[in-house]
Amino acid sequence: MTPAAYRGRFAPSPTGPLHFGSLVAAVGSCLDARAHGGAWLVRMEDVDTERNVPGAADAILRTLEACGFEWDGPVLYQSRRGDAYAAALESLRATGQAYGCACSRREIADSATGSAVDGGLVYPGTCRGGLPPGRAARAWRLRVAEAEVAFDDRIQGRMAQVLARDVGDFVLRRADGPFAYQLAVAVDDQFQGISEVVRGADLIASTPRQIWLQRCLGYATPRYAHLPVATNAAGEKLSKQTRAPALVPGREAADLVAALRFLGQPVPPALAAAAPAEVWAWALGHWSFAAVPRRAGIPARD
Ligand SMILES: [Zn+2]
Repeated sequence: MTPAAYRGRFAPSPTGPLHFGSLVAAVGSCLDARAHGGAWLVRMEDVDTERNVPGAADAILRTLEACGFEWDGPVLYQSRRGDAYAAALESLRATGQAYGCACSRREIADSATGSAVDGGLVYPGTCRGGLPPGRAARAWRLRVAEAEVAFDDRIQGRMAQVLARDVGDFVLRRADGPFAYQLAVAVDDQFQGISEVVRGADLIASTPRQIWLQRCLGYATPRYAHLPVATNAAGEKLSKQTRAPALVPGREAADLVAALRFLGQPVPPALAAAAPAEVWAWALGHWSFAAVPRRAGIPARD
């Protein structure tokens, strides 16, 4: 890959303020892009508007600025991309790859054959051959195959799923409702010309679905690197659900140093008392992708 072709991104969901786990993903994706002489974009993954917290998107951007991040181009907001997602869904419907599904949650639970990788149920394929008589579509689903979808993650190694077994035909849009995260990410990665996805390992189970969507839509597939995620003492990913604390203003350099150390970088501890710009100067000069721990989760230190 030539340096100019590298385009990476950081894509937080505005469900709360930036916390340490998100900072790790921001630092890792940004430094990998800059080390390749590449572009680094920011995308606000606010497609699921019911989960968005008012003001959180602006708060995340202000925290990134205070930490000294500099992104390329304007921030892309998924909440403003409905026309693009609708066009992608329409093309999948036109080719028969997407189909309407009338099943209620209860009906799927009654006939599902197993648990899906995302914690839900494997869709049993009830509406694959057409809607039952007298029923209307409640959702649009994408046909998946029995074949293995595999990729070589730069950190986690080879990862594979058989979507028909591990996920089932998955939802692209709830009828007259929001577009699914998987569709939005696939469409936006293509739209933004993303060549490299560097993000937390908590999203690795989504990657085969996104690769499948890329193939169905005729998109290129980026390379993937799933960073270890910060967990609490119980081994749970730090998130709003597990009460991850927001980053505290005035501690930006210390937080950056902590994120770099989490990613295996031997940053001098004294830089925690310096300005964020000094931390960045060190990080840009010393970033080592090879030093990132080849693990999916690491307990964060307080
Ligand atoms: Zn159905």
